[in-house]
Amino acid sequence: MYHGTPKDQPKSNYSIRADRFSAHLRYLKKQGWNSVLFRELYNVSALPEKTVVLTFDDGYADNYEGVFLPLAENNMKATWFITTDCIGKHSHWMGPPSAQTQMLTVEQLRQMENAGMEIGSHTCSHPDLTTLSYQQQQDEITQSKQVLESIIHKKISSFAYPYGRYNSDSISAAKDADFQLACTTSPGWFGSEKNPLLVRRITIFANDSVSILARKLTFADNDVSWKKMTRYYYQRINDRLIGNR
Ligand SMILES: [Zn+2]
Repeated sequence: MYHGTPKDQPKSNYSIRADRFSAHLRYLKKQGWNSVLFRELYNVSALPEKTVVLTFDDGYADNYEGVFLPLAENNMKATWFITTDCIGKHSHWMGPPSAQTQMLTVEQLRQMENAGMEIGSHTCSHPDLTTLSYQQQQDEITQSKQVLESIIHKKISSFAYPYGRYNSDSISAAKDADFQLACTTSPGWFGSEKNPLLVRRITIFANDSVSILARKLTFADNDVSWKKMTRYYYQRINDRLIGNR
C-alpha cells in the first residue's frame, strides 16, 4: 500500500519520494516480481507465486508522473483506490491544500484505466466508516462506485476501507454494493485472510529503503526492524535445535 509520491520530501509518513519509489520499481523488476491488478487476485490460482499487487490509496496527482508513467514504461500494473469527492481537487483530511494534496483528475483516471491500470473505490469523502450508520456507509460506498463507473464506463469491483477502518456493516455494505474484493491495512499475505472483503496489505512508509521493501516482501509484515528480524531468526534456529533432539 502506497499513497502519494511527491518529488520533494513527503509531508506524510504514508507518502514516499518519487525517486525512492522508482528504486522500489527497479528492485521489483530486477527480482522478477510479477505485478498484477488487485482484481486479478479473485482468481489467484492462475497467478505465478512471485506476484505482487501495488496499490495506491486516495488518488494523489503526483502518482501520475511518479507512478503511472514509469509503470506503463515497464509494462507493469497497479490499482488505485479513489476518493471520488476529491477527484481533481485536494484531499481535505491531509491538512492545508498544497501540491502534495492535489488529486488526480477525471481525464488522468480515464487515461490510466485505458493503459491497463485498475481504478477501485475508496468511498466518496474518506470517512472513518465505523463512525457511520449502515445507511451512511452504504451511501459512501455505492455512490463512489457509481461515480467511478460513470467515468470509466466499466464495472468497478475493488474497494479499500479508508484508514483501514471497518466494522461488520462496512463489510455488508461492500458486499451489497457488489464489490468482489476489498482490502484493509492489516499486514499479511493474501491467503492469510479467507474473507475476500478483508484482504491484507503491507504499508510502505516514507523512509522505506529498497532493503526494507525486500524484508517486507519476505515477511509480509509492517515491522521489519532488525530487532524483530533477529528475534525471528533466533526462534527459527531454536525451533530447529529442539526439532533435532
Ligand atoms: Zn485513504
